[in-house]
Amino acid sequence: MKKNILRVGVYLFVFIFVAFIVWCRHIFSGGPDAVILMYHSVGAPHGELTSLDVSARDFERQMDFLSRHGFRVVRLTELAAMLRRGEKIAPRTVVITFDDGYENNYTEAFPVLKKYGFPATIFVVGSHLGEEYPVARRVPTRLLTLAQIKEMEGSGLVDIGSHTWTHSYLPGISDPQALRNEILGSKVKLEAALGRPVVSFCYPLGGYTRAARKMVQEAGYRVAVGINSKKGRPADDLYTLKRIKVAKKSRHMGIFFVQVSGYYLRMKESSS
Ligand SMILES: [Zn+2]
Repeated sequence: MKKNILRVGVYLFVFIFVAFIVWCRHIFSGGPDAVILMYHSVGAPHGELTSLDVSARDFERQMDFLSRHGFRVVRLTELAAMLRRGEKIAPRTVVITFDDGYENNYTEAFPVLKKYGFPATIFVVGSHLGEEYPVARRVPTRLLTLAQIKEMEGSGLVDIGSHTWTHSYLPGISDPQALRNEILGSKVKLEAALGRPVVSFCYPLGGYTRAARKMVQEAGYRVAVGINSKKGRPADDLYTLKRIKVAKKSRHMGIFFVQVSGYYLRMKESSS
């Protein structure tokens, strides 16, 4: 009886060990991926951090971590160009992005980006610049003004991308003209206001359809990003690039370390 239990235990151990080796080969083969970080608000606009926020202190700690550990922070358009050329992306390559265009991206994040010389892309909602607007929250939150956006762009560190005209969930729009206004209209109007080309796009709430993706490409954007990853979706589609959400839980540096490792999305996808 005892022998049988022992034998079953050995079989179980061997099975788990082999499964672990297979899993490791799946996750770690081919080296790390480029990492595109997705931030929203830096600081809590309404007093308490929500799942979309990081505190200003944690944001600084995270940038300091990237700096001290030799990460190479590149522009989103630079990464897109490398992917388009089929280049192998060096390990520890990171892109920083912000969604929604909260005013605290200027007051809290921009000084830190300047301190470390890190470039970033901010995806703004064109129709409500400088206003209090709910965007993806229940309560209205102050958004960047055009002057703040221009100052950040002028520094050479910040690129502005479109997050549609009104932050609409694109799969919910059936009228092609309304879809065009969100995708192409936002680009044209933002470019007129900024006096610069707007070449990157971000799907609100990560939602897109084949028609929306095609329209983004035809509108002349060079790159577009979603939110999270789903099993089976390609990792190198320049019009649906995957990102990693950095928020409240990333205040634990161990979690942030895994998130920027280049293997995080593969681990997440393999367990979903
Ligand atoms: Zn958003």
